[in-house]
Amino acid sequence: MISPLCIFFYFFLGLAFGSFANVVIMRLHSGEKGIFSGRSHCASCKHSLSVWDLIPLFSWLLLRGKCRYCKESISIQYPFVELLMGAMFVSAYVAAAYLAPQNPFYEVWLLIIFFAFTILFIYDFLYMELPDEISLPTIVILFGFNFFAFTPTWQDALLGAAIPTLFFGIQYLVSRGKWIGEGDFRLGILMGLILGWKLTIVALFLGYILGAVVGAYVLISKTKKMSSQLPFGPFLILGTVIALFFGNNVMNWYLGFLGF
Ligand SMILES: [Zn+2]
Repeated sequence: MISPLCIFFYFFLGLAFGSFANVVIMRLHSGEKGIFSGRSHCASCKHSLSVWDLIPLFSWLLLRGKCRYCKESISIQYPFVELLMGAMFVSAYVAAAYLAPQNPFYEVWLLIIFFAFTILFIYDFLYMELPDEISLPTIVILFGFNFFAFTPTWQDALLGAAIPTLFFGIQYLVSRGKWIGEGDFRLGILMGLILGWKLTIVALFLGYILGAVVGAYVLISKTKKMSSQLPFGPFLILGTVIALFFGNNVMNWYLGFLGF
């Protein structure tokens, strides 16, 4: 049963976690120590921010995207990540309510996946890197979940993790590390733990198709130079989320297409 009140609750919870994600992204990138310590400050004038400047989404809207103290514009990235996380948390709630209404752990599992994936997606998109500080703890936590009945079994999860590792490993060797980043290996392990081996293959397939389509579009429209690369992580992440919810449909459609 999906209630509007719960949708509001998860949206605001997502906004708050999105705000936390912004801090994590900023501090990982700048190399500042401590995610929980130290006060938040304006990125341009360094003025400490008050509680009223830190309300997710609403502070940005009320201040019309400008710092209260120096009037420098604040990147749209902040409210965007907050909104995206709000949407992800609502999606996790709705998906869990439909797919596993009797199992609260399923919802927690989805929230963890969506939270980590949103940070990895944004970070790879902005900085072409998938930070270990996010992927490694998520690997440990999700492997713990592989002992719950609703996730792939731990054997299936390890087999799933081995497939992208092997697949990326070959590309890494062939291209001498040019085609595939080290962070992609960690993401490949996450894919296996979430999906098990069959759906991991579907997710890789989807990730490469999405990457090829967007890559071709970018080349044609010349918004990026030939030499510059697209990050691969966001496509693998999208492939994983699609495979998680629709993987069996994709697989059946494809096998039917091949005439099985
Ligand atoms: Zn400022």
